[in-house]
Amino acid sequence: MNNFLYGLTGDIVTPLDPIYSEARQGFNTAIQQFPLIIVYCATKTDVSNAVIWSRRHCVPIRIRSGGHNYEGYSNGDCTLVIDISQMNDMRIDEGLNELIVQGGVTNKLVYEFVASKGYPFPGGTCPTVGVSGYALGGGWGLSCRNFGLGCDSLKEIELINYEGITIKANRENHCDLFWACRGAGGGNFGVIVSMTFNLPPKVRNVTLIEIDYLNVREQEQEEFLYVWQEWLKTADKRITLIGRVYHSSADGLGMLIRGIFYGSAEAAMEMMAD
Ligand SMILES: Cc1cc2nc3c(=O)[nH]c(=O)nc-3n(C[C@H](O)[C@H](O)[C@H](O)COP(=O)(O)OP(=O)(O)OC[C@H]3O[C@@H](n4cnc5c(N)ncnc54)[C@H](O)[C@@H]3O)c2cc1C
Repeated sequence: MNNFLYGLTGDIVTPLDPIYSEARQGFNTAIQQFPLIIVYCATKTDVSNAVIWSRRHCVPIRIRSGGHNYEGYSNGDCTLVIDISQMNDMRIDEGLNELIVQGGVTNKLVYEFVASKGYPFPGGTCPTVGVSGYALGGGWGLSCRNFGLGCDSLKEIELINYEGITIKANRENHCDLFWACRGAGGGNFGVIVSMTFNLPPKVRNVTLIEIDYLNVREQEQEEFLYVWQEWLKTADKRITLIGRVYHSSADGLGMLIRGIFYGSAEAAMEMMAD
């Protein structure tokens, strides 16, 4: 390791490495940025060392979990990218109905894990989005009318602060920091290395709803938007749907409804018929 990199731990990628091009690329390929170093952290110590190193060398840091930020805020030219995607341990405390995840888990990993124990999770729609970025930004998903936003279930966070020190924040300790992280936490206050979520009660039945109205007229799209807004006001909170009006070259004008209902298929059919 050259002297400049001394102090950094974890898997280090620099522009000289063959995997650099792949490693620097976020989800949005319209954004091209060229960090100085990407460090894949496996432990809290790796994260802490990266923060301390960045201050010593006056290199700005970017924090990356799932890498799905639309504007590319988890990357930057001449920066040190602290990538925590390898930190993806998870455990459930069934006594407390709590899920404890490391900062690098994705929606897909969490859904698969909690579902294996019978729990739902108020995560997002895209499987490869990082749960850190999702929950720290609020987090809207297809369970949110039933269970709230992702950040509403957040109980505690563990973060590495600007000095490389680990802090636990919850409603009792560092409560201002905790409050701020539930919506404005992405890349702003420290590197979140672990999150504890309250889990909703276990569920037996979830129904996927998908309705596609093809080749409709403009007036029907307009009516759909009015009906949609009225219906939502009193809709059963166990149902969360996304409604889209679209104009595609293959199918013409159309409307698409997609989402989930926490209940049986029969009950969902009945509700949608109303
Ligand atoms: C295809 C797609 C589908 C989406 N669907 C949904 C959806 O259904 N619901 C929804 O609410 N949002 C959705 N989003 C938005 C998504 O939740 C945000 O862009 C989110 O910030 C991405 O998180 P990430 O960890 O994948 O991204 P990253 O790019 O890694 O991070 C996003 C931001 O959070 C910061 N950050 C990430 N991890 C940490 C950490 N551990 N500590 C501190 N800061 C951190 C980064 O620095 C960056 O500023 C979607 C985005 C895409 C691209």
